[in-house]
Amino acid sequence: MRDLIVIGGGIAGVSSALYAKSRGLDVLVIERDKIGGLIRGASKVTHFASLVVAETGEEFSKRLESQLEDMNIEVAYENVEDLKKSDDLFIIKTDKNSYEAKKIVVASGSTPKELSVDNKGHKFYHYGNGAEDLVKNKTVIVNGGSDGACKEAIYLSKFAKEVHIVQIMDRLMTIDEFKSIIESSDNIIVHTSSELLDIKDEEGIITSVNLTDGEISDSDGIEIFVSIGQSGNSEFLDDNFEITDGFVKTEVISDIDGLYFAGDIRVKPVRQLATAVSDGCIAGIEAAK
Ligand SMILES: Cc1cc2nc3c(=O)[nH]c(=O)nc-3n(C[C@H](O)[C@H](O)[C@H](O)COP(=O)(O)OP(=O)(O)OC[C@H]3O[C@@H](n4cnc5c(N)ncnc54)[C@H](O)[C@@H]3O)c2cc1C
Repeated sequence: MRDLIVIGGGIAGVSSALYAKSRGLDVLVIERDKIGGLIRGASKVTHFASLVVAETGEEFSKRLESQLEDMNIEVAYENVEDLKKSDDLFIIKTDKNSYEAKKIVVASGSTPKELSVDNKGHKFYHYGNGAEDLVKNKTVIVNGGSDGACKEAIYLSKFAKEVHIVQIMDRLMTIDEFKSIIESSDNIIVHTSSELLDIKDEEGIITSVNLTDGEISDSDGIEIFVSIGQSGNSEFLDDNFEITDGFVKTEVISDIDGLYFAGDIRVKPVRQLATAVSDGCIAGIEAAK
């Protein structure tokens, strides 16, 4: 039996584990993929206080991993499939094991949504980090117009021939800092009120795409990136929770004794690293009380 199990090793989960462990709790983090979560793939981490300039999401996440190691916090790399409360203890079932804990922090965050366009066997990507060689001298289509989409578009424009931002709304929904970089770029083209309709391929590469506002062709190849929002990772919760698009309507301290929710998994107005850390801090300290 653990004092605390944290579901999810993104920044919210890591924060709650650090605060709880420092208060003497026996903590286990269960992570189905890699420590760092959503930010791990980002080309650059921005606007988070105390940042090292130009740090990639992967570098940032490796520091989270080191913090867990330094604090001797155990991580089980498993997928949580079920969470139940029975009397005074919680029971978690993963794809490999069953665990019991006195308290739980759900910090399972969110997953990028996929585009409902036939990919004809080609991979559609979510992040620019790691795609530098892939896009070299090719045309890139970035679907989405939020901060995440614009940030990845700006990064990819350093390597690609051209980057087309395809935004369904009538304007980009991003911060002024990114807008002015995009406006002054000579290889980023913005398509507003537009959508990717279909792709055409020849000899294994995408050579043209149809957008609402016209066709884009490149015989050297086109790579597609998708940044059209996230869905919450709450599949393992039962129907006692109010859930919209996977996100759970709850405060950090939930109505169920011993159960806490931290980070992007919650319905909240701002989903950023800082708000995830704040939730994780509250959850970890409250769990240790
Ligand atoms: C492209 C992009 C760039 C961004 N850049 C910035 C930025 O520069 N600055 C900023 O402040 N914010 C940024 N954000 C937002 C930031 O990434 C999120 O707010 C933050 O990652 C949320 O952290 P979290 O721990 O709540 O969730 P997540 O990071 O989503 O972590 C959740 C973790 O839970 C795991 N998990 C999920 N389900 C299960 C399960 N069933 N079993 C086990 N593990 C599970 C996942 O694998 C994941 O590791 C960006 C987001 C995107 C998409």
